[in-house]
Amino acid sequence: MAYDDQNIFAKILRGEIPCNKVFEDDWALAFHDISPQAPTHILVIPKGAYVSMDDFSANAGADELAGFMRAVGTVAREAGAVDDGYRILANHGRDAHQEVPHFHIHIFAGRDLGGMVRKAEA
Ligand code: 5GP
Repeated sequence: MAYDDQNIFAKILRGEIPCNKVFEDDWALAFHDISPQAPTHILVIPKGAYVSMDDFSANAGADELAGFMRAVGTVAREAGAVDDGYRILANHGRDAHQEVPHFHIHIFAGRDLGGMVRKAEA
């Protein structure tokens, strides 16, 4: 799947639409999700143009991979989520219901987050 530079996170990266920013460095931008599913729900996105985890893991350089993962940990720590715990999640493709085609990691925290994934329907 080709990268669509008109996706909403590409526009946020270019400053064309606003976000509630919590962190930025050379590799990543982090901001609050517009529709939070936990008291803390932050999205961390790479500065580079990657569609999803599949694209990012296959094509990002070593500095980019390391810098991005470091940023995810920093954001969770700065959100105060380490002591009580947090969950990270990245959706890729149809079955995971990925909505925005720019790779992003969700950070959820601030309440008991329940089971890891919805059980299969009988
Ligand atoms: P996905 O399903 O692709 O993993 O998650 C996309 C996430 O982006 C959703 O949780 C959705 O609420 C969030 N989102 C969609 N549009 C915007 C936006 O314009 N601003 C922010 N901050 N979050 C958005």
